[in-house]
Amino acid sequence: MLKGKTAVVTGASRGIGKAIAVKLAEQGANIVVNYINNKDEADKLVKEFETLGTKALAIQADISDFSQAKNLINRTKEELGAVDILVNNAGITRDGLVMRMTEEDFDRVIEVNLKGVFNCIRHTVPLMVKQRSGRIINITSVAGLLGNPGQANYSAAKAGIIGMTKTLAKEIGSRGITVNAIAPGFIETDMTAELADKLKETIKDSTALGKLGKPENIADAVAFLAGSTGEYITGQVLSVDGGMAF
Ligand code: NAP
Repeated sequence: MLKGKTAVVTGASRGIGKAIAVKLAEQGANIVVNYINNKDEADKLVKEFETLGTKALAIQADISDFSQAKNLINRTKEELGAVDILVNNAGITRDGLVMRMTEEDFDRVIEVNLKGVFNCIRHTVPLMVKQRSGRIINITSVAGLLGNPGQANYSAAKAGIIGMTKTLAKEIGSRGITVNAIAPGFIETDMTAELADKLKETIKDSTALGKLGKPENIADAVAFLAGSTGEYITGQVLSVDGGMAF
């Protein structure tokens, strides 16, 4: 259980981030729901968490911006007292084949999906080092492990997250902080809603379990790493993909 712990979940207004926030709140953690646009959804979640008896805050911040990420982490510390768990979940796609990909689409995906993770980590780590404990969980992707046509920007950012995860695990393990990544396969959210049914069938067929994933599948893995169950696990990439990347 996570009673008394405070978790920041980036991109928690929808999809996988929302499921993670719900799961950690159900386990008793106080939650910061970060979002960029979707204030209504974030505020709704905060009310839901308050009825569970946990403290919750919605904080708008574009995590790709260093100073907004700083404000997200500092406000959490000021208003909830600590950052015990950081889940770097926020992410976007701007797909296109390399020979047609615009510089803007490449840059924006790197800014949000890779630099955004660095920004949140950069401001959180000093707090965790001081308290000599913490859990950092980064959401990467099967695309960062295997590559995926049309996602050179996204795959590069997600592979970068894996390098950052392993490096940081080595830098701060001695301070009682674990750093891991979770690599989802295909999970049904807004991000994947626009894909053609035929492609979804192909993806389903590429999994050993023969089905697509739910946001709750990722949330369960996050809760495992964030709880006492994750105490001796660091520097790992856990695939939660129905058996795609192995
Ligand atoms: P989603 O449904 O599109 O939700 C994205 C979330 O990120 C939203 O809460 C959004 O906030 C937030 N966000 C976007 N840009 C942001 C920014 N610059 N700063 C702060 N928040 C921002 O995505 P999802 O499918 O849940 O994906 C969540 C994570 O899992 C991403 O990192 C994604 O790459 C990864 N992933 C997903 C899949 C999949 O199949 N779905 C597979 C592998 C990995 P607003 O609501 O305010 O817009």
